[in-house]
Amino acid sequence: MILMKDILQEFEPILHKRALDVKLPLSKEDFETIQSMMEYVHNSQNDALVEQYSLRPAVGLAAPQIGVSKRMFVMSTYDEDGTILHEYAVVNPKILSSSEELTYLPGGEGCLSVDEAKNGLVPRAKRIKVRFNKVNLETGETTETLVKLQDYVGIVFQHEFDHLNGVLFVSKVKETLPNVKPIEFPEDDE
Ligand code: ZN
Repeated sequence: MILMKDILQEFEPILHKRALDVKLPLSKEDFETIQSMMEYVHNSQNDALVEQYSLRPAVGLAAPQIGVSKRMFVMSTYDEDGTILHEYAVVNPKILSSSEELTYLPGGEGCLSVDEAKNGLVPRAKRIKVRFNKVNLETGETTETLVKLQDYVGIVFQHEFDHLNGVLFVSKVKETLPNVKPIEFPEDDE
């Protein structure tokens, strides 16, 4: 299983270069890699395992963060209303369009590859349309998937997508975003 010691930190060169396309059908090795990435995200959302293995909680993880420079990432999180689970194992994603309207996470973004002290405000497109090959984590089969994402889950997707282009959120942090409306969390359990 992936532990914090396996997650590369900010100044590793691999986190700053464009990752390569993944060959399809998925190789056994790539399938196992993306399965273990989703396992990390699930484990990191389990309080007992977080304590036992000193995990940092996460809603997403990109392959370059574990030293694999390939265009794949996973995400597993509810939308800001806490109603719909967006769980995707993503291969070779494309952002087809992005709204001009921006938003941001009011508590700031964070990243397993960056010290928590550096969490900060990042402007993101409020709505995106994306296409990717969605991996079935039971079988390794992939399905071409087209979805529209917005607000919180859209931000998560954009953050993970950036990792595949060698971009860390810290390079996009702003002190303030006076003309941008942040995401609202009705339950406010941030
Ligand atoms: Zn990250």
